[in-house]
Amino acid sequence: MKPVTVPFFISHQGCPHTCVFCDQRTISGASGQLPTPEMIRARIELWRSTAGIRPLEIAFFGGTFTALSMETQADLLLPLQPLLENGTLDSVRISTRPDCIDAGHVTWLSNRGVRTIELGVQSMDDRVLAASGRGHAAAASLNAIDCIKSNGVKVGAQLMPGLPGDTPASSLNSLEQVISAGADFLRIYPTVVLEGTELARRYVAGEFTPLSLDRGVQLCKLLLQYAMQAGVPVVRIGLQADYGLDEEHILAGCWHPALGQLVRSQLFADLLCRFVPPGQSVTVYCHPARLSDVVGMKRSNLLSQAGRGVQVQVVPDAALKKEEIAVNTHDASTIYSIVTDLHYSIHEV
Ligand code: SF4
Repeated sequence: MKPVTVPFFISHQGCPHTCVFCDQRTISGASGQLPTPEMIRARIELWRSTAGIRPLEIAFFGGTFTALSMETQADLLLPLQPLLENGTLDSVRISTRPDCIDAGHVTWLSNRGVRTIELGVQSMDDRVLAASGRGHAAAASLNAIDCIKSNGVKVGAQLMPGLPGDTPASSLNSLEQVISAGADFLRIYPTVVLEGTELARRYVAGEFTPLSLDRGVQLCKLLLQYAMQAGVPVVRIGLQADYGLDEEHILAGCWHPALGQLVRSQLFADLLCRFVPPGQSVTVYCHPARLSDVVGMKRSNLLSQAGRGVQVQVVPDAALKKEEIAVNTHDASTIYSIVTDLHYSIHEV
């Protein structure tokens, strides 16, 4: 059963770096204060009362958890221990930088209920990491994934396509590398230019061209399809507006409040375009959870099919997998899958 996540943002806390794209105060909207034990307990109790029988997970997002002093890390984890013991809470998730964790630290965290560690990998291209001011090389991410996995803790990799010096090929290579290294899940956050950052200065000076929304969607589509083929879940595409990101602070880049839906819709649009002949009337069946993706935002997929003379009726069918559609024409019915039937070339992006 999917856990309910209780989020805490530890804005810029513990991070000794200033990556060119980062303004944690903007991303988290937080004051930079760490939550007190009382705040942690109160929020967990509130969420426990609404989570029903679903497992509860507390997540410390933002900042760099493992770069906080050991005393502070212990202070944040201590109030969770009785709740983990009595079953109110099931697990803890933290996020950190790849160069701020080692095997001993993972063991220490694991002994205190941490079951998932998210790594801000961003890129596996050393040139991109250097141009983005990350302060570590790709080898640090491989080491971190390895020591997290070998302690039996789940690892998530966050990737940022569109950083300075990045190309579609190097984005895909980064994704392939973290999957090969054993990442259990991915988040894809295409680069956005936030006010007040070094990237904003470069953008205004004409030294950096961010991904447009259209190109970002095309690139994310390819990355998502590759991850699906590899069987690795992509749990999020695009920064989350409701976690404090203020649109007014975004100067440029690939951002949309429902970027993930745009990307998944595009995959289904491609399936329809490639496999439904023009001028047909068809019924398209899809998993109920994918209904809005197949229809597209503001019915965009249906409208573009109408432009090809294809009349589409979309019907939910829980027997289908989430990445499949079944297309019923007058004379035949065929199931098509994003995972097996779509083939993209990096040159299309
Ligand atoms: S390591 Fe993370 S928190 Fe620190 S500056 Fe970079 S993106 Fe921001």
